[in-house]
Amino acid sequence: MLRGERLDDKLLIHNYGHGGAGMSLSWGTARMATEMALARPERSAAVVGCGVAGLTTARQLQRHGFEVTIYAATVPPETTSNMSLAAWTPTSGLVDPERRTPEWDAQFRKAATVAYRELQLLVGRGYGVSWLDAYALRASAPDGDSAEADTLLPSELATASATLGPGEHPFPTPYATLRPSLRIEPSVYLDRLVHDVREAGAAIVIRRFESRAGLASLDEPVVVNCTGLGARDLVGDDELTPLKGQLTLLVPQAEVDYATFGAASPVAGGFVHMSPRRDGIALGGTSVEGDWSLEPDEEARRRIVEAHVDLFSRMR
Ligand SMILES: Cc1cc2nc3c(=O)[nH]c(=O)nc-3n(C[C@H](O)[C@H](O)[C@H](O)COP(=O)(O)OP(=O)(O)OC[C@H]3O[C@@H](n4cnc5c(N)ncnc54)[C@H](O)[C@@H]3O)c2cc1C
Repeated sequence: MLRGERLDDKLLIHNYGHGGAGMSLSWGTARMATEMALARPERSAAVVGCGVAGLTTARQLQRHGFEVTIYAATVPPETTSNMSLAAWTPTSGLVDPERRTPEWDAQFRKAATVAYRELQLLVGRGYGVSWLDAYALRASAPDGDSAEADTLLPSELATASATLGPGEHPFPTPYATLRPSLRIEPSVYLDRLVHDVREAGAAIVIRRFESRAGLASLDEPVVVNCTGLGARDLVGDDELTPLKGQLTLLVPQAEVDYATFGAASPVAGGFVHMSPRRDGIALGGTSVEGDWSLEPDEEARRRIVEAHVDLFSRMR
């Protein structure tokens, strides 16, 4: 959700509902929220929320001359953003083909283009953003990028890929498609963003808002709502739906310097993925629409770990 509305004499801008793509797209939606904020003459803004959407929005506003205060019920490491896999997955859980419009597509492409460039510029600068070889493990050779969601992304945002056939790679599937991908390490990244917003003068105030009236009581003339799933209750957005995901972290193994994804194991029961980072090897493979529970699903954890044990025990 990216749109502005009047709230008494304030401009209230909504920047939430990024699905499984918030770590990928947030710099872009933050820039667009800032462009809306620039329509007001004042240069003072409240950002509500201190996950990746709130922090990148605060930075974009600061870069455009705003004094910013962040208000949030929780701050890193206690945000959903900290729990993220945080690969470059800009279309994940976000694209409903039935509801796409030319305006939505244009907004999405702009957000993705801005975000990709921002993340590229952070590589190698201590933000926990880096390039990683990612292998899509496949039973058959790909027949071109035909997925509808992929056609949405501007072609210049796609790195070149190479499909390796039987005997050309060590994985137990016949084919593996290698594509260098951007990868974010959430704990490093979010801490750096908190540091940056504070160094540029922002205060971070711990405060939970119960309603629009609470937002209206703020002094700032511009309020940007970056509350993620909290927006459902805060502004009564009944359309906001969670996509529940969970990760299992293994102890770090420095020698694992690539990621894998796909339905590569018979015991996977679907799509699973593995990605290494400094705080551990992240295993995942769940996306449950409409599930608000924060409790880990033990059966899913077991299925995903067993799938990876099976996959890697069959590597050459
Ligand atoms: C397991 C998993 C894997 C994922 N993998 C990826 C991936 O590979 N790539 C990708 O791009 N994305 C991924 N995502 C999605 C991504 O993590 C989210 O889209 C993103 O973190 C959302 O950020 P946010 O800042 O909007 O929300 P949050 O991180 O939830 O932050 C919300 C902030 O708002 C505050 N808040 C909420 N309600 C209120 C209130 N009423 N008053 C005051 N403050 C409030 C909270 O305290 C918090 O500070 C994944 C998510 C999960 C869970």
